[in-house]
Amino acid sequence: MGQEIGRAEIWESLQNQWDLVVVGGGITGAGILREACRLGLKALLLEQRDFAWGTSSRSSKLVHGGFRYLMQGRFALTRACVRERNRLLREGAGLINPLSFLLAIDQEGVSTRWAFEAGLCLYDLLSGKWAHRTLSPPDLLRMSPGFRPRGLKGGFLYGDAQTDDARLVLRVIREAVNAGGTALNYAPVEEVLYHSGRAVGVRVRDEFRNQTVEVFCKVVINATGPRADSLRGKFGRGMKIRPLRGSHLILSSDRLPLVHAVTFRHPSDRKRYVFALPWEGATLVGTTDLDHGTPPQEEPAITTGEMDYLMTAVQEGFPSAGLSLEDVLSTFAGVRPVVGTGKVDPSRESREYVILREKGLITVMGGKLTTFRLVARDALRAARTSFPLFPLPGAKGPILKSPGENLLGGGDAPLPRIQGRHGEDASEMANSAEAGDREIIPGTPCLWGELRWAARREAVVHLEDLLLRRVRIGLLLPSGGVSCLSRVRTICQKELKWDDARWEKEKAEYLALYRRCYSLPGPF
Ligand SMILES: Cc1cc2nc3c(=O)[nH]c(=O)nc-3n(C[C@H](O)[C@H](O)[C@H](O)COP(=O)(O)OP(=O)(O)OC[C@H]3O[C@@H](n4cnc5c(N)ncnc54)[C@H](O)[C@@H]3O)c2cc1C
Repeated sequence: MGQEIGRAEIWESLQNQWDLVVVGGGITGAGILREACRLGLKALLLEQRDFAWGTSSRSSKLVHGGFRYLMQGRFALTRACVRERNRLLREGAGLINPLSFLLAIDQEGVSTRWAFEAGLCLYDLLSGKWAHRTLSPPDLLRMSPGFRPRGLKGGFLYGDAQTDDARLVLRVIREAVNAGGTALNYAPVEEVLYHSGRAVGVRVRDEFRNQTVEVFCKVVINATGPRADSLRGKFGRGMKIRPLRGSHLILSSDRLPLVHAVTFRHPSDRKRYVFALPWEGATLVGTTDLDHGTPPQEEPAITTGEMDYLMTAVQEGFPSAGLSLEDVLSTFAGVRPVVGTGKVDPSRESREYVILREKGLITVMGGKLTTFRLVARDALRAARTSFPLFPLPGAKGPILKSPGENLLGGGDAPLPRIQGRHGEDASEMANSAEAGDREIIPGTPCLWGELRWAARREAVVHLEDLLLRRVRIGLLLPSGGVSCLSRVRTICQKELKWDDARWEKEKAEYLALYRRCYSLPGPF
């Protein structure tokens, strides 16, 4: 990543011998690259599309301490999640932010209320901070005006955290690159290469030059999320991914303003809880949990059934708001890389990660946002069994590097946001701002300077990379941000050297993608 070293130069360097090749540029691959660089390994990450193109830009954006694990009696795991969450809140302030939740307890939940109460007490004890409160129905309704969940008997207020998932991936990759790693997007790995029955490298395709390159290394780690089985190929026996789709709606916060996230039982699917939460100045509603069938090679999209399911939830949960499909700014769907055990109800499948070793290929399935560092360390420990000379990952050190001294050049740029998202690069970014870069893109919390910096320095190849993942204005503005495109064009043409023909092609492809995968399904 980084336009400082051009793509051509990175392709040339692939011929070198690497210690480690990580396949997949989601949070799992990013974390592994980062930890490998800390250990001084010569590490390369290859991503078939854009960084965070997969599930890691399509999650519910929660950096949670694992309350669900706690309710399953998994104390050690919850403790680890809570610790990682708290560290991320400290080290990544501005990117990982506190989020308070209101959990509504209804008639059907009354009998398990004590379990929630006990769970939240433990959650706070593990976190070292007493953050939860029991709420009466009037308390809960006062804290979220307009919220009227069916059969309300009371509830809880508790604390967790949220992030911008794609930006978390980018920050981790950026830190890895600054520490000597190499990361290349739009570089699909076609297959793992084996010699004497052991993985020794990968064959990667350069789509722009229509050629393939063999890359050799000591260890290959497969971090391809829902597509993990495809790379395991014929050696992949036993555990398999069960791809489970989850979709979201993004609503205008003018129509559904929230201070706290709210979680409540779906009005017609009484087994499941749904949520609405404030995110990036909008309101995120989720989620579903359905078998997706085959692992996604193309972008998943919300179905009409999922749209109705989520609309029913918010319409009944907030009856006075009079919400309709016209209030939906955008939609998105992601596919969970869950390890399948054949449970009938998808929501009963475990969300824990698994690390496999097959013929020297290490495969990681099911990594989460909160625990990416722990997953990375476990993967690198597994790699040592293939290559014992690899250093052992230590247990100390920060997850995210400090952004350093506050050198930002004046103005009133929102510092925590910029420092959180750009870490070590925040000062350089702010100091290189051009006229108008400190202005906010109307309808979003994002600065024009963030968009310019991304175009200049964050390995943007296509317009969709810029508008859907580097900044999220494609999700936060109506019609994919079409009203901003003339100013985006000026920035892209300057920073990415796109001529008029390239701009028109990128714009047409982006708008077609938006209609197919990020807008409402069907004839709306
Ligand atoms: C609806 C939903 C909500 C969720 N909410 C949360 C949440 O709130 N908090 C949380 O912690 N987790 C959440 N998760 C889970 C979490 O998002 C995922 O577990 C995590 O993002 C998986 O990351 P990953 O890096 O393993 O996979 P991915 O992010 O999918 O990354 C894999 C990458 O590998 C690339 N790839 C695939 N094949 C190849 C190849 N041959 N060559 C090169 N690259 C390849 C893909 O393009 C992709 O970018 C949610 C998931 C879903 C679907």
